[in-house]
Amino acid sequence: MRIKFRQEKSFGLIGNPLGHSLSPFIHKELFKIAGISADYELYEADENELVLLYKNTLSALTGFNVTIPHKQNIIPLLDSLSGRARLFGSVNMVYNDEEKATGYNTDCIGFLRSLEGAGISLEGSVLILGCGGVSRTFAFESVIAGAEVTLAVRRTGFEKATKLKNEIKEKLNSDVKIAFLDEIDSGYDLIINATPVGMFPKTDASPLEKEAVLKSKAVFDAIYNPQETLLIKYAKEGGLKYLNGLPMLVWQAAAAEEIWNGVKFTKQEVERVIELTRKELEKG
Ligand code: NAP
Repeated sequence: MRIKFRQEKSFGLIGNPLGHSLSPFIHKELFKIAGISADYELYEADENELVLLYKNTLSALTGFNVTIPHKQNIIPLLDSLSGRARLFGSVNMVYNDEEKATGYNTDCIGFLRSLEGAGISLEGSVLILGCGGVSRTFAFESVIAGAEVTLAVRRTGFEKATKLKNEIKEKLNSDVKIAFLDEIDSGYDLIINATPVGMFPKTDASPLEKEAVLKSKAVFDAIYNPQETLLIKYAKEGGLKYLNGLPMLVWQAAAAEEIWNGVKFTKQEVERVIELTRKELEKG
């Protein structure tokens, strides 16, 4: 009789929309390196489906990633939060151990490790474009690193930016500035794009004018599709340091697996997965 192979660990991603998510590809490559037998499924669900899905499925997984629109909604369902998840009020990974479900934020680890890998330092003046979910992580981490942070938003985003500014003041006792995107005309040590402007399919757009980009020293664009956004093209033309969001995506996945599976990846191993993911993305 043939013995059916049983997956010992199960993982997944909850969000909506998930489209052609790269997460299953990335995690499977990392599982291979770590020698772990596991599956990784996508769970596309709306806010009103979250509680039931959590109760029936997600709570039985070893762990799962969380993306838009659930990074905040998931919090009341969990037993505890890591320090960073509590600080940002945002969870992008959950680990269900024997006793409890803990929410983590590994986006911040992905952000910091990918910048480090590209030789881009988080110091001096940092301009963060946008004030949504991932912008919170960038803003808190930049302030913690000692940078002078400016949040640049369109006019409709002013209230959200003020809320984040007040939260940073309350939690870290630091001041950040707020500016409007269409009024940015000076240079910064680092520009971080945390808006979807320039993302596929609207690839002919940039959140900042070329002149403002050229006055700056480095650009990190959280977008990874396309890998070369118009903003990155400007940075390249101006001889600035630049990085897209793909290394961050892979590093945050590696950080999640380190917590779920008690493994440790080397820089070279993660870089290999970044390269494989780059090729996978190019296939379209
Ligand atoms: P989000 O919560 O929806 O926030 C998007 C922000 O961009 C909001 O502040 C929004 O302003 C602003 N925005 C949207 N359209 C704009 C426009 N046309 N002009 C100016 N500002 C605009 O999204 P998120 O989760 O933070 O993600 C932001 C980007 O980061 C996305 O491209 C996402 O793919 C990328 N990301 C990458 C990684 C990675 O690992 N590389 C991880 C997370 C996110 P309003 O509030 O005024 O609408």
